[in-house]
Order: sequence, then C-alpha cells, then structure tokens
Amino acid sequence: MARYVGPVCRLCRREGMKLFLKGYRCFTDKCAIEKRNYAPGQHGQKRPKLSEYGLQLREKEKVKRIYGVLERQFKNYFERGEKQKGITGENLLRLLELRLDTVVYRSGLGSSMKEARQLVRHSHFLVNGKKVDIPSYQVRVGDMIQVREGSREVEPIKDARRRSEQRGVPAWLDLDKESLAVAVKALPQREDMPTNVQEQLVVELYSK
Ligand code: SF4
Repeated sequence: MARYVGPVCRLCRREGMKLFLKGYRCFTDKCAIEKRNYAPGQHGQKRPKLSEYGLQLREKEKVKRIYGVLERQFKNYFERGEKQKGITGENLLRLLELRLDTVVYRSGLGSSMKEARQLVRHSHFLVNGKKVDIPSYQVRVGDMIQVREGSREVEPIKDARRRSEQRGVPAWLDLDKESLAVAVKALPQREDMPTNVQEQLVVELYSK
C-alpha cells in the first residue's frame, strides 16, 4: 500500500484520538480533534459499534499511523517483537521507539514524526560519529545521536531546545540542549512510551 499523502488530521479524526502528526499545531486549540472529534465524511458523526476484529484492526492502524510505517514493515517489526523475550506488544512498540526518526522526534529535534524522518533522510544526524540517513535505523543503548556541524541552523533543529521543554524528553533519552546531542541511556519501558494504544489488540489480530 502506498504512503498516505492526504490531510493528516483526517487520520486522527478517523481514529477518534490525537496521533500528534502535525507538530506544534497538535498542542493548540487549532487541533482538529479539539474542534471536530468525529470521523471525516458524510456519516462521520455516527460512529458505528466495532466488532472485535474491527477494534483490533483500528488499533493496528493507530500504531502504524503514529510511527508512519507501512504494512509490510510493520509486520516485520511484529515478527521481530514476537521472537524477542518478554511481552510481544511491548517489544513491538519498543522496536518502533528505537527507530532513529522516533528518537529524533522524542528528543524534540523534529516537530513531528514526519519532519523527523525527513531530517534523518536529509543527513542531518550522526550516530556515534557516523552519518546515518536511514529513518528506520535501530539505535542501541549507549548510542550517541548528534546534529551534524552545519545542520544546527536548520530551521526545525534550531527550535529543538524550546520544543524539548514544551514536550519533555523521555527518561530513557538524554538530550544535551547545548550541543543538541542525544544519548540513549536505556531501553524504553512501556511507561516511557507515550503511545496511547492497546498493543495487545494488535497482537491478537496477528495471532489469528
Ligand atoms: Fe492530529 Fe495534530 Fe491534526 Fe490534532 S493537529 S488532529 S493531533 S495531526
């Protein structure tokens, strides 16, 4: 399936919750969920009661939309999470949290997941001193993500300090606000992941 390129606020309205896809606007009263919290389209105001399968499917779509991954890639993450020790749903979210674009977003270096992905693609970051331009790159505990010399004046990155104060940086990451370097201190635990989904429903869906 191709990547969705339409208005992203429709995705939040479809899911009936904030997916935080638009950066700064998501934290203001201009957010479409604040103004029109019903599904888009002619019959959007009548939310139908979902079947068990429907609930599981919607939960999967939420996770995919929050992290901006397509079906095949998402399934791969699930299969990797299933092979790891621990709770599969948590493992799945952890793998998504450890993507380089997610780390850039969580630390405030990008205003939205989409912008963070674009910044990574445009080679604005070093991981342990080496250029990495792959958004899905998996960071590890002990890694150091730095803004490249010359990229510190790039508009979204310049705003990182203010953004990290507004949103906060999760406890498993350590952002040095002066050098704009992010250290991965630990693996994120479920309580560190602000993703408001019931990942167990995704596990149930794929276990059918
Ligand atoms: Fe979703 Fe953000 Fe649009 Fe609100 S402003 S509907 S949270 S993308």
